Amino acid sequence: MANFLQLAVSEIPVSHQAPCMERRASFEVSSRTRVKQRPTRASYERDVVHAILDEGLVCAVGFVVDGEPFVLPMAYARWHERLILHGSSKSRLTNALATGAKVCASVTLLDGLVLARSTMHHSMNYRSVTIFGVAAELSDREEKLEALTRVVEHVLPRRTHTARAPNELELRATMVLALPIELASAKVRTGGPLDDDEDLDLACWAGSLPLLLVAGAPVPDPLHPPALPVPAELLHYDRRAVALR
Ligand SMILES: Cc1cc2nc3c(=O)[nH]c(=O)nc-3n(C[C@H](O)[C@H](O)[C@H](O)COP(=O)(O)OP(=O)(O)OC[C@H]3O[C@@H](n4cnc5c(N)ncnc54)[C@H](O)[C@@H]3O)c2cc1C
Repeated sequence: MANFLQLAVSEIPVSHQAPCMERRASFEVSSRTRVKQRPTRASYERDVVHAILDEGLVCAVGFVVDGEPFVLPMAYARWHERLILHGSSKSRLTNALATGAKVCASVTLLDGLVLARSTMHHSMNYRSVTIFGVAAELSDREEKLEALTRVVEHVLPRRTHTARAPNELELRATMVLALPIELASAKVRTGGPLDDDEDLDLACWAGSLPLLLVAGAPVPDPLHPPALPVPAELLHYDRRAVALR
């Protein structure tokens, strides 16, 4: 993980770099994004935030409608410095976001369980990102299509090479939103338990249990079994590889 988090800009695939090379390497820290608990685990490095977003699959999107808070899981993609979200043009979620609702979006990669000798010091290893902002609807047809392509390619690279693109009806029924990745922070925990000295000799196993997202064997559509072989990218599906492509 250390190497993963210490990527130099030059190691980041060009396709993931912003078109404007004058971007700052770090996000400005604000009162909302400053990590106060365990600040040594915080990162405001753009590349760290991007790497976590690129590996994740599901974003928890929080917003308030009529004074009531909602947090809903959504697919997403990072398109340079924007987080792309999409949904039905008629849904409460997309309409709330399109009309200027403040958003807090969070992506978490769970890397392991940390098992200490005391219950209080149990923890988890993780990499997570929080982004605050206001999303804007993408209404330009070409930009909307490209954004939707990014979402599909984020989940499975090369999928749009064979899957049909949205038709005009589908495009109209789908709202695409872009949340600027500017007010953002990452927090990362790695390593083993941090027990109190007086607990070190307790008769209790301590350490960590790494957790990985592992793909199972592909299951062909049972109703219309495809005539084509399973795509190679499905046979070796690995989020870290997807993130670094
Ligand atoms: C992994 C994952 C990825 C998803 N990706 C997308 C996406 O990219 N775009 C998209 O539009 N939607 C996505 N969804 C569905 C999304 O979470 C919402 O269900 C959907 O957007 C409708 O939201 P709404 O507020 O308009 O729905 P409404 O039907 O108005 O919600 C009404 C109520 O239903 C309940 N509810 C709604 N959604 C959920 C949920 N997911 N889990 C539990 N309760 C729920 C809540 O109580 C909510 O207040 C995804 C869901 C999952 C689990």
